[in-house]
Amino acid sequence: MIDDYASAKFWADIGQWIFNALVATYLWINRRHNETLDKIESACEKIDEHERDISLLKSHPSHDQSGRMVEQIERMSGVERTVPILRPFKLASREFHPHNSVVKINGCVIGGEQLIVMAGPCAIESKAQLGEAARAVKEAGAHVLRGGAFKPRTSPYSFQGLGEEGLRIMADVRQEIDLPVITEVTAPDLVPLVTTFANILQIGARNMHNYALLHAVGESQRPVLLKRGMMSTIEELLMAAEYILSHGNSNVILCERGIRTFETYTRNTLDISAVPVLKELTHLPIVVDPSHGTGKWSLVEPMAKAAIAAGADGLIIEVHPRPEEALSDGGQSLKPDRFADLMANLAPIAQAVGRTL
Ligand code: PEP
Ligand code: MN
Repeated sequence: MIDDYASAKFWADIGQWIFNALVATYLWINRRHNETLDKIESACEKIDEHERDISLLKSHPSHDQSGRMVEQIERMSGVERTVPILRPFKLASREFHPHNSVVKINGCVIGGEQLIVMAGPCAIESKAQLGEAARAVKEAGAHVLRGGAFKPRTSPYSFQGLGEEGLRIMADVRQEIDLPVITEVTAPDLVPLVTTFANILQIGARNMHNYALLHAVGESQRPVLLKRGMMSTIEELLMAAEYILSHGNSNVILCERGIRTFETYTRNTLDISAVPVLKELTHLPIVVDPSHGTGKWSLVEPMAKAAIAAGADGLIIEVHPRPEEALSDGGQSLKPDRFADLMANLAPIAQAVGRTL
């Protein structure tokens, strides 16, 4: 009897203990659940406080405080993570500006139906050299003359360009051949000088992250060709463009010029896929540089064709009257007759994608 009683009591105690444990667990879960709900509620209240910032962002994309807002929201307890649904580049983004924008330079329109080809030597070496190159590229149908006066070279011992003298040569040649000119600006304090000579300011790959320079060209109203940094993502390129746009200059042209990869056969790997990716993400015109993109003159034509087929709005190509004598980038420069052939061979590709040349 006693044994039966002890056994019943033992099982009753176990049952009671299990019941208590279940009740305690339920209460604990309930309390945690309520605490979580409280945290979520307070996070929601704080997010509501950002509503004013959100409506400001909608009407003034350049007052974008979303980065700060996201950081604050991510630090709140009750928030595990945030998922961005808006691009960080507002003014460059198609979300804010769905239609293609065009950049107009002396009657030539970049980003329209017509493809724009910029061509000329890597560096301005003399009036004779630039003049010869300019006459040849114009004759072959180029729309803009290129040539560097300030050359940001990887080695300090390489030819650094003629500087201001080069700009003066460029201005003389422009007067003679009547083509707009593009040349690189390498420092913020050079922007006023280069702007007095150039129709398009080029920001080189090595300067894509030079924010003081982006700011300075943003304040000038001169069209800017912004080259993708050799180790930069597409988003970083668009954020660099955003610097220029947000300082008041809407005349921005993007340039894919190849990125550094493990491949050594080519100087850079020309990221042709960047063209359609950029076309999806941004309304800004896109130009491709198959010269720096490959580093080899024989690869320039196939990659130029690929760029046009992929939807580029134009090309920038190095042409030198005598590449073997060039002071910079001779190995990737086309001779004038090869450039003329390239222009002729591009025409059917342009037509196939609904563009003119
Ligand atoms: C250039 O155009 O000559 C040049 C230096 O280009 P990148 O900045 O793309 O190297
Ligand atoms: Mn070059």
